[in-house]
This record gives sequence, C-alpha cells and structure tokens, in this order.
Amino acid sequence: MDDLADKSLSPDREPLDLAAMPDVDQLATLFAQNLLFDSVIDPSQAGLRQVFEAAAGSVRDLLSERWVQTERQYDSANPKRIYYMSLEFLIGRSLANNVFNLMVEPVLEQAIRDKALNWIDLIEQEPDAGLGNGGLGRLAACFLDSMAAMQLPAMGYGLRYEYGMFKQSIENGWQREQADNWLRNQDPWEVRRPQDIVEVKLGCSFVMNHGRLELIPNRPSSLVGVPYDRPVVGYGNKTINTLRLWSATSHDDFDFREFSSGDFVSALIGKIAAHTVTRVLYPDDSTEMGQGLRFAQEYFLVACSLADLVRRFRRGNSDWALLPEKCAIQLNDTHPTLAVPELMRILLDEAGLGWDQAWDLTKRTLAYTNHTLLPEALEKWSLHHFQTMLPRQLEIIYEINHRFLDDVRARFPGDEAKVQRVSLIEEGAEDKVRMANLAIVGSHSTNGVAAIHSELLRKLTVHDLAEIFPERFSNKTNGVTHRRWLALANPNLASAISTVIGTGWLTDLTAIAGLRSVADDQHVQDLFLAAKSAAKQDFAGWLLRTSGQSVDPETIFDCQVKRIHEYKRQMLNALRVIVLYNRLRANPDMAMVPRTFFFAGKAAPAYQRAKLIIKFINNLAGTIDGDPAVKGRLKIVFLPEYCVSLAERLIPAADVSNQISTAGFEASGTSNMKFMMNGALTLGTRDGATIEMAQEAGEENFFLFGLTVDEVEASRGYYDPHWHYENEPEIRAALDLIASGHFSENEKGAFTPLLDSLLKEGDRYMHLADLSAYMRADEALCANYADRRAWARKAILNIAGSGQFSSDRTIAQYASEIWQVKPCPVA
Ligand SMILES: *Cc1c(COP(=O)(O)O)cnc(C)c1O
Repeated sequence: MDDLADKSLSPDREPLDLAAMPDVDQLATLFAQNLLFDSVIDPSQAGLRQVFEAAAGSVRDLLSERWVQTERQYDSANPKRIYYMSLEFLIGRSLANNVFNLMVEPVLEQAIRDKALNWIDLIEQEPDAGLGNGGLGRLAACFLDSMAAMQLPAMGYGLRYEYGMFKQSIENGWQREQADNWLRNQDPWEVRRPQDIVEVKLGCSFVMNHGRLELIPNRPSSLVGVPYDRPVVGYGNKTINTLRLWSATSHDDFDFREFSSGDFVSALIGKIAAHTVTRVLYPDDSTEMGQGLRFAQEYFLVACSLADLVRRFRRGNSDWALLPEKCAIQLNDTHPTLAVPELMRILLDEAGLGWDQAWDLTKRTLAYTNHTLLPEALEKWSLHHFQTMLPRQLEIIYEINHRFLDDVRARFPGDEAKVQRVSLIEEGAEDKVRMANLAIVGSHSTNGVAAIHSELLRKLTVHDLAEIFPERFSNKTNGVTHRRWLALANPNLASAISTVIGTGWLTDLTAIAGLRSVADDQHVQDLFLAAKSAAKQDFAGWLLRTSGQSVDPETIFDCQVKRIHEYKRQMLNALRVIVLYNRLRANPDMAMVPRTFFFAGKAAPAYQRAKLIIKFINNLAGTIDGDPAVKGRLKIVFLPEYCVSLAERLIPAADVSNQISTAGFEASGTSNMKFMMNGALTLGTRDGATIEMAQEAGEENFFLFGLTVDEVEASRGYYDPHWHYENEPEIRAALDLIASGHFSENEKGAFTPLLDSLLKEGDRYMHLADLSAYMRADEALCANYADRRAWARKAILNIAGSGQFSSDRTIAQYASEIWQVKPCPVA
C-alpha cells in the first residue's frame, strides 16, 4: 500500500488555476529564498528539516504583512479586544494548518512537488507544540483558531515552556517519560519581541540550591518576561491574531560594579533560577498541585499579560473607566485567577483609583471558565505562598474577602456556615485561598463547559455562590475547530462532504445539517464508506511503517484516546474486552465481529494507579494476541505518545468512539466531538457534552448506556460492587481471570491494586455498575455494523448533527453573551 506517498493536501478538489491564487509567485519566490538564504545551502542538497524550515519560513514571510496589518487595524479602530489567558495551549503542528487557513495549499504543494518532495514527509518534520495536558489546553488552541476565523480582535496569553508535555514511550508495558525538548531546533513560527519585555516584581528572591529552586523571603526581586509571538491565521480572511507566550529571565544588565566577584556568581545563578519559572509544563491534569514553582508560573503569566494589555489599553485610552469597554479577559480555569488581585493592585497602586471603582472595573473586565467538578482538582493555594511571593496581593485578597463576607452576613444573617463555605479563605491546619471562589467573586461571568456540567456546578460544586450571584452563571458548551479536526485531518471525508453540500460548512458548520436529508442516499453512503475505508488504510499503513505493527482495516476500529484517569474509566473498556475474550475462550467458534481496540493516553507521572492501568492494557494486549482461541477477532493496540498529531491521524480512521466516564465526572469532553464529526459512532455514558451530541444526532443514532448523573448521585452510600461480582457471572469471570494471574504470568500480583480498587475500595467510579449495560450497548453496536448501509446512515446522521460542536459556535456565544466583542475585519 503506497497510500501516503502521493496523497495531496486537497484530493479531489476542483482543478485550481494556480496563477489566479493569491500570492502564488510570491510564495514560490519566498520558498526559494528561504532555502537559499536562511539555510545557506545548495537547494539540491537540502535535507527534509531544512526544506521544512524553508517552507514554514516562507509561509511566515507571506503572512507577516497581514500580521502587521492586523495589529495596525486594531490599533486604529480601537475595538474592544479579547484576551484569552491560559496556562496551557495544546497547539500541535502549525505548518499544514497555517497553509490551509491562508488558502495557499495548492501553491505550496506545487512548489514542493516541483522539488520532487513529499508534503507529508515535510509536515512530519515539525514537532508538536505540546504546551498543554489535554482537553483544557486543546480548547484554548481551538478557540484561537475560531476567533481568528471570525475576525475577532483577540489575543492569547500563555507561557513559553521550554519543555512541553513529556514524551511517552512504553517499556515492557510500563509508561516511561522523556523530556520534550521541542525547541531543540529553532521554531519557525515564533517571533521574539524584546522591545515588549515586562518586569514582574516579587516579594522574595529565587536561588538554586543543589539543583532545586528555593525562595528567600523578605528579599524582593524581579523577573523579566520576554514575549514570543506566534501567528494565529484566520481561515479565508486577512486576520492574523497573536498568541503571546512569555519566557522568564532576569535582567541582563547586572551592575557589575555593585557585585564583588562572589556576588557576580550568585547573580548569574539567580538568572538561572529565573529561567526555571518557564522551564517546564506541569504534566498533571485533574489533581491539585501544591508546588511553589507552579504558583510562580501562574503569577508570572498573569503579571506579564496584565502589564502588557494595560500598556496597550493606555496607548489608546486615557480614561481608566473605559477598561471594561476595551478589554475582555477570559480566565481558562482558575490557573490565571491571580488576575483578580493583580488587576486590583494595578488599578489601586499604579492608577491611583479608589477601591470601589477599581473593584467595579476588575469585575467587569474579568470572566472565568470552570472546567471541573472533581473536588481534588479545585485549586487552593496555601497562604504561605502569598506571604512570601505576593504580600500586597494577599492584602488585597483579605480586603476583597472582608467586604464580600460582610455583604453575605447582611444578606444571610446568622448563617455562619454559609459564610465559611463561600469565604475566599479555607481555614484549616494550613489556611488556603480558594481560587475558584476568588474567580467567581472577582469576575462578572462564570461558565461551565457543557449543559450538564454548568447545571451541576450551580447546584452542587459552588451552590452557595451561585445563589448569591445567579446572574453571573451560564453555560458555554465546548467545541472544536472543525477546520483542523475534519477538513485538514480527514481530507477524503472533507471532500466527500463538499461534493454533497458544497464548501459552506468550512466557515459555518451548521451547514453540515444538509447531510441529514441525504443520509439514506446510497451514493452518499458509498462516499462515506469509501472515505472511512481510505482513512483506516492510511492509518494502518502509517502504523506499520512507524511501529511494525499490523492491524486489519477490515475490523472495527474501536477507540478510547484521552488522558488516562480513573474517572475516564479505561478499566471499564478493558473489562469489556476481557468479557468478550472469555466468551471466545468458552466458545471459540461463536460468531463475533472482528475488532481492533485502540487505546492511547498519558498518565500523570505521579499517578501510580493510572500508570498501572497502562501496564494492564499492554499486558492484556499481549495475552490476547497470543491466544489461539481469539483467531484474529480481537486485538488491542496501545498507541504510545498520544498528542495532537496522533489524534489527527487516528480519529479519521475510527469507527467507534468510547466516551465512558462515570456520569457527572467529565465536564464536557472534546474528543467526543472530533470523533462525531469524523463519522465514528459513540458508545457512551450520559455525561458532559455527549448528552448534547446525542440530542443533536438523535439518540437512536447513539449507543448510550449506564447510570445517569442522578442515578450515580442516588446510589452514593448504597453502591456495593460486590453485588455485581456475586450476581453477574461474566463480571465475576472477568475479575477472576485477572486475579488468576492470566495477564501477569511472570509478574505475580501486579494487578492486585486494580482489583482492590474495584472490589475492596468501593469502586469509586462505579465500573461494575455500568459493565453489563456497556456490554449490551456494545452488542447493539456490533449488530449494526454488519449492516453497512444502516451503519453508514447512522454515521452520516452523526456528522450531520455535529454542527453545534464547532468552536466557532462556542466563540460566537462567548463573544455575544460574555465579552460583547464584535468582529474587526482587516481590510
Ligand atoms: C481533544 C484532545 C484531548 C481531549 O480529549 P478528551 O477525550 O475530551 O479528554 C486530549 N488530548 C489531545 C491530544 C486532544 O487532541
């Protein structure tokens, strides 16, 4: 199979008149120039990496004029601007995306073909920018794409981690972590802006002590933030927005005269310490992290970004009262919540405003997005971090709290319990600041990320605050950019869709509903099946080339790819496979649709249980592969190094998407949406955005199962996993097979902790309660697969129902309901 070798970016499109494309000659010239001048190499001798750099460099040159023009437009029109603040941006690769959004793919392709080069190989040269853990960081990246496509005056603010999300490999079934040195080669997209550096003042100093960062209290110091800008290209328009990432350093200009030679060395060491602030991304999601360095990162992002945006605001506006009319700041989760006391500090101490006005402006400028209901993931920072690093901001937080609690006492006289619950400070052995409470009290908007999540947030997680400020709460169901996740990732399906309904869906995904009326059309079904089959073959070819593993594209590709976490229940999926395996062992000749189960995902390095789940899945894969009873009908593949570019490869090839979190635990999910728009059918629980997806596609086109949120709630305190073990023979047989050591022959007892969590520790995530229902949904799904037309029809109805799950829709809602920001097109 010679699949990828000559696959172009845009197969089956109308032949384009290249000469009529914008910037054709320009791009070709730039490409030649970049190759010659930047790499200073004979073009015929250039290696792939150099050609990639030349291609990326020429694309950047091409967009640079528009980029400057965009900023000029914003400066002169002075519109209200959006600032999206996030500790994570999970960007992935940019070359193909930028080329696509600039609509110059045919030109660049031609230039590459002229050089007898392979576009796919070229794209592979770019490392993923993995500056995030998972969904939250990917959401930020999708939002930037949508804001640029919609010509909104927006800017992203984040940190330029030198090391992104760790690289995962699998050794003997175990996850191994390697550093992600993604900036090893010069990144062609970023532009360093030394003229825009900012100074960040801290109440302490940093030193390195035996390789560890230490804080010295009561010795104020400052860090320097250096911005690195990345272009965010608007699809089909002239807008190029900016993602500004901050890198930490210290002042270069030590006054050498002031230092004795010993102090000179310690000053240099201080500089190294300063650099560590943006050295590495914390590779944990969904648990609270207590490290001071993380706290410093959060403050550093907030302080740099606010100083930068306030400076920009002051350039165009003399009156501080205009701040909320010119700036909308969105906090992606509580990580940038220090923006509340920091903006107050600027308005009080630097602008000299009175408290009431500063407080009013702060609240009207800031808005907060909540991403989790897991109590262990709600951020709380111990007071001592504030005392050493940010004493002034702590004073401000105390004052905010004092005034707020006075109001609460006035409204709810005598209810001290409520006062304690809503307080910004949690009192205990160690007093802590509750960052979610601070974000809600200090902003005008709090949103959840799916209807059910927003409802639970209001009803349970922050019930008291929602009662006090009901008008602040709303829902903004997440979305994904369908340009990256469908048009670019799945060119075969994309061109099939465009053949049927035209290309309007690229800028308005609701147009995809046009597929609904043709879901019964055999020709359309054939187009879908052919595209799916091609994507599966592409994936199988890639897997074989890069890992030597072969999978059969004729089998059902059944996928669960996401961070490994107990609440996401990869173990439930593994138990499903064991039940199927037991059926084949008992009855080797039974009929069973052949399937390949793909798992992928990283476990936080300190999350032992999640790492053991990875090991378990790998052992399961090995055992099943070696068992003659299976006869090629079941195969498990654990794909290492889950990242954006792996997701882009696998999702187009998926037949089945597993979204099986315990109801009430997944805030929204976004991979569920990527799978849906690529025509995979969902086996899922009624959780997060999956509920809304099923409504849009019609529940009859979904395979929903398991306990609802209300049922999960109602069974707390009663639920007994043993009941299922005793009364459901297939569940018992599956657990007994694990206990027998069948999957751990030379590693006796290795999986006891997994069994214990299911049976002895109460099965917090209720795997056993949902397993039988999962098996029944799975059977219904397999029965459907046999009827190819019925399957294609359901898949088409899923694609047709995905129109609401573009991040364009999400951003339109933020823009009109939270930000009150309008497009500012670039001429
Ligand atoms: C979309 C995406 C996620 C989020 O996946 P969920 O299943 O919604 O948790 C995580 N990681 C990557 C690389 C993604 O592309």
